[in-house]
Amino acid sequence: MSTITASQEQDVVDRVPKQLYIGGQWRDGAKGTLVVEDPSTGEPLCEVADASVDEARAALDAAVDAGPEFAAMAPRDRGEILRRAFEAITERQDELAVLMTLEMGKTIAESSAEISYAAEFFRWFSEEAVRIDGRYGVAANGASRVLTMKQPVGPCLMITPWNFPLAMGTRKIGPAVAAGCTMVVKPAKQTPLSMLALASILEEAGLPGGVLNLVTASSAGETTRPLISDRRLRKLSFTGSTEVGRQLMAQSSDGLLRLSMELGGNAPFLVFEDADVDAAVEGAMLAKMRNIGEACTAANRFHIAGAVADEFAAKLADKMGALTLGRGVQDGVDVGPLIDDAQRTKVTDLVSDAIGRGAHAVVGGQAREGAGYFYNPTVLTDVPGDAELRQEEIFGPVAPVFGFADEDEAIAAANDTEYGLVAYVYTSNLKRALRVCEKLETGMIGLNQGMVSNAGAPFGGVKASGFGREGGYEGIEEYLETKYVAVNL
Ligand code: NAP
Repeated sequence: MSTITASQEQDVVDRVPKQLYIGGQWRDGAKGTLVVEDPSTGEPLCEVADASVDEARAALDAAVDAGPEFAAMAPRDRGEILRRAFEAITERQDELAVLMTLEMGKTIAESSAEISYAAEFFRWFSEEAVRIDGRYGVAANGASRVLTMKQPVGPCLMITPWNFPLAMGTRKIGPAVAAGCTMVVKPAKQTPLSMLALASILEEAGLPGGVLNLVTASSAGETTRPLISDRRLRKLSFTGSTEVGRQLMAQSSDGLLRLSMELGGNAPFLVFEDADVDAAVEGAMLAKMRNIGEACTAANRFHIAGAVADEFAAKLADKMGALTLGRGVQDGVDVGPLIDDAQRTKVTDLVSDAIGRGAHAVVGGQAREGAGYFYNPTVLTDVPGDAELRQEEIFGPVAPVFGFADEDEAIAAANDTEYGLVAYVYTSNLKRALRVCEKLETGMIGLNQGMVSNAGAPFGGVKASGFGREGGYEGIEEYLETKYVAVNL
């Protein structure tokens, strides 16, 4: 696609509804509007409705009211709605990519890739909707029977982050619709436009009013807390930071809500001396630079065998230094801006801390001057073990390289974090690969590949990266309860 003109950008933004979507109706927010910004310029893009607490409650009322009828809808019909939405997203991919790039910053190619990934959850779960089953077994005593049935959990609250504005929604909405659950969705205030576009696609695809209710809000805590304490809510699915996840878990304890927590990460990227270093560098570029480093799965620490560490760092620095920064809607741009000034300041501070403790910036090492929240792709070597970025989620285009002496040291370094979302392992030795995979304390591992995301796979973490799985056969289980009937024959 060629560079987008300003009027095309405006058209794409203008076509998105900016209101709240409650009970199948679009309506203004009582509190007025909140501003959505383009992070590549720092300029406002548009305004969307700002929901009040009463409107959030109305959204839950609508989800509760729609629940029984939707749960009773034929699974095939629920699946067909998702399938039609998958087709519509795919048809509108180019336009949705521009919208996502404008609100989030990443390049059109990356937005387009996210849209394919996001749509794939609808295709996957359209197929899973008709495979919900139970079992019938003979009890051990031979007298009674064990009958189980799967039923929708009930009304859900879904809270999503700004880094993957569409996929973090479809990963929850897809299985919920397939399972027969109704929902209130609260997207991040910085990137509500992709989700608003999605709500209108689902409406066009025939999703009954009240099944999905969308509230955009300037004050996330104020808006969602009353819903979390409302006894009619049955589940909270949250993707975001570990810090907020902990708060939401505490709030959910009164109502004993079913929870899915997709939280922060601090992914180690391990390269052993027997690895194909060029392939590892390719994988590192993907694991580090996908989404400008603003991914929970982003490689946060590169632990490289001493024998190949210099070669790896030099090759990675060459590739990182060759990337072109700019507005994601423009041709020839590889890397967009960070989401906001706070995120850029955080990255700046983490790099300054590492350099202050003796790290060396082979390339990059500072923010880019001028409009937008750009940070230069950076590779750091000689990073001391006590640098803050070894424990903190960087969420930016910064690759710190650490050396290791042997396999035990590599595994210990990889596991030395409270997080446990994903790890990457590069080795050509099969026994070592499996040995290391068994010992890593993460929910996912990229083995000789720099990306794990796949709608057909169970995505999720352990430790402070949360619990629950999105995607795969496991994804729909998060939205189903198992009821057991003891049958006396
Ligand atoms: P965040 O600050 O935790 O926000 C995530 C969502 O929670 C947003 O919708 C936000 O609304 C809302 N929120 C914030 N404070 C809240 C509160 N007190 N009560 C209720 N909702 C609240 O995270 P973020 O900065 O947007 O996202 C980045 C984080 O998400 C990173 O840590 C990343 O690793 C994690 N993440 C994890 C996964 C995964 O699958 N494990 C995937 C993607 C991202 P506002 O927008 O209004 O603040």
